[in-house]
Amino acid sequence: MKLSLVVPCYNEELSVVRFFEETNKTFADKDIDYEFVFVDDGSKDKTYDKLSGIYKNYANKSEKYQIQVLSFSRNFGKEAGIYAGLQHAKGDMVCIIDADLQQHPKVVLEMMQIMDNENDYDCVCAYQDKRKEGKVLSAFKKMFYKIINKVSEVDFVNGASDFRLLNRKMVNAILSLTERSRFSKGIFSWVGFNTKYIPYDVLQREAGESKWNFFKLFKYAVDGIISFSTMPLKISTFTGFFSAVASIFYLIIVIIQKFAFGIDVPGYATIVVLLLFIGGLQLFSLGILGEYLAKAYIQGKERPIYILKEHLHESCND
Ligand code: UDP
Ligand code: MG
Repeated sequence: MKLSLVVPCYNEELSVVRFFEETNKTFADKDIDYEFVFVDDGSKDKTYDKLSGIYKNYANKSEKYQIQVLSFSRNFGKEAGIYAGLQHAKGDMVCIIDADLQQHPKVVLEMMQIMDNENDYDCVCAYQDKRKEGKVLSAFKKMFYKIINKVSEVDFVNGASDFRLLNRKMVNAILSLTERSRFSKGIFSWVGFNTKYIPYDVLQREAGESKWNFFKLFKYAVDGIISFSTMPLKISTFTGFFSAVASIFYLIIVIIQKFAFGIDVPGYATIVVLLLFIGGLQLFSLGILGEYLAKAYIQGKERPIYILKEHLHESCND
């Protein structure tokens, strides 16, 4: 099997059939055998019915492609979907692609060509050349990339998506990281290998809606930073240290003012401000510590990354 297409789907009842048809159309005259690995991430709509419909109607019918449908017991998130898809993919190359056709399958052909012709690449990643979103969101994303590149040892490319083609070596490397809190963008960089970045145009979503909003993205960004850097912990240590040193200096100044010049320091306002400032810093540092502790706690429980409810594949035929 040359290529596996890993397609995470959450509430995509309006898109999956279109995606399936469009992909087959794109690959029709190409000499490539491929498989679909659809991952239904606990959808609440009819996504699973549509996927099992595709499976019933088309599995074992084509020489060119095969179909697998994985279905989770609940929504575990796109990252878990990607992991499950990679685990079950059989292809020599694996492409992660969204179900909503914002990422057109013809870009996959372009990626495959690069991978076939330029031997030194293990991964081809598509990045959004022009972001088609609000200026504010774009500015926040830019800021996120600046911060995470400063505080983390691995590189993050602004606009690089999960839309990428991986060779078997890289897929196996990614699967060997079994962490619960999965931030793919970081994992792809962390495992190393050679990645080529190519620009692509993100298309408009034709049906259904995006699963992201500002707060979800914010939480995702914080998760990413916590997963790939311990810098926030160091920052809180340094801030604590410097505010302690500053307070000693201030104490010395107050003593000199009192005993050398006889100035009475007006206390109330200073104390309230300092109290709030130090109290805030302490809570902030505790919060940061808590975030790391929570990650260690979740990891310590060693729960599976996802739970499978159904798995339709061509050797089971049920
Ligand atoms: N997705 C998923 N699980 C989730 C959220 C999203 O599998 O919990 C899938 C979704 O069905 C789509 C892909 O991840 O195929 C990208 O999601 P979306 O289109 O909402 O993101 P956007 O393109 O807006 O960044
Ligand atoms: Mg999308």
